[in-house]
Amino acid sequence: MQTIFSGIQPSGIPTIGNYIGAMKQFVALQEDYNSYYCIVDEHAITMPQDRLKLREQIKSLAALYLAIGLDPEKSIIFIQSEVSAHAEAAWIVQCNTSLGELERMTQFKDKSLKNKRAGVSAGLLTYPPLMVADIILYQTDLVPVGDDQKQHLELTRDFVERFNNKYSSGQPILTLPEVKIPEEGGRIMSLQEPTKKMSKSDKNAKSFISMLDEPSIIRKKFKSAVTDSSGIIEYDPINKPGISNLLVIFSAFSGQSIDSLVTMYTGKGYGEFKDELATAVIAVMEPIQQRHAELLKSDELDLILDQGAESARKVANKTLQKMKNAVGLGRKS
Ligand code: ATP
Ligand code: MG
Repeated sequence: MQTIFSGIQPSGIPTIGNYIGAMKQFVALQEDYNSYYCIVDEHAITMPQDRLKLREQIKSLAALYLAIGLDPEKSIIFIQSEVSAHAEAAWIVQCNTSLGELERMTQFKDKSLKNKRAGVSAGLLTYPPLMVADIILYQTDLVPVGDDQKQHLELTRDFVERFNNKYSSGQPILTLPEVKIPEEGGRIMSLQEPTKKMSKSDKNAKSFISMLDEPSIIRKKFKSAVTDSSGIIEYDPINKPGISNLLVIFSAFSGQSIDSLVTMYTGKGYGEFKDELATAVIAVMEPIQQRHAELLKSDELDLILDQGAESARKVANKTLQKMKNAVGLGRKS
């Protein structure tokens, strides 16, 4: 059976962008793959976080993984910082990655530009090697992610090829992973600035719909989503990015194609469209939110995370040892 790895940062509450681009795929894929789904808390601290809020978000994300339908009998669900091999492998990856490669990463450029480069953490620059470590430790074949992670996955593949070429004699040490981005919904845009990606860490809460937003808030946020003045519902991401983004979201939540939605809403106004879009999103989110609240109150969650970390450690340590041997660290061979 092939292996899947993917992670979400507990840097906020996941948005419908995270759900459509990544989490929705996790549930379907766990049936056919050996799956590892991680709460990547070490990635979250590349940006400033409040410690108590971070702790809360870690648990909340774990509960959301289960609430969307991830089954601990089929998937290994764990917290990154509880498996120390991630940070250790990341060091070996960093020492085999050039500064030039990291400085080219658009996410680093975006996030450091917003926060003035000299003041951002060095971790923001070395975040991709940690992500490479996350993936390679499980000998991952497939990584389901949103479109914004494409460049990081290319870096991962380059690293694996370089590492194997340099250090393997015969059998490759690391598995070369493939990326899996959904054909539609790989990049859900901000509701307020539809030319920008929707992000859970956005300061403006109106720009995203979080998976835990109450139904009335969901309805309100869609109502105030930026569109245009033409009043015609059609799919044209270049000239009408706002309404096109809403069509992609509607399609992902209703299962109807964009074409059929456009036909359905011919001659109808944005107000009616947005209200029915909200209804479709609420119908999917409400049961997830109920299950999430129950899980947070139960003891089940800690038990699942303890077992997840233990299973992950076994596999990750094996690969880490191979990497240490390859580069000549320590005494064992
Ligand atoms: P942050 O702002 O803290 O970076 P984020 O919303 O970008 O948060 P991540 O934890 O970085 O979320 O990413 C988790 C997963 O969700 C990744 O697979 C990423 O590609 C995907 N993803 C993030 N934003 C979107 C989006 N707007 N549309 C589709 N997928 C997305
Ligand atoms: Mg992100």
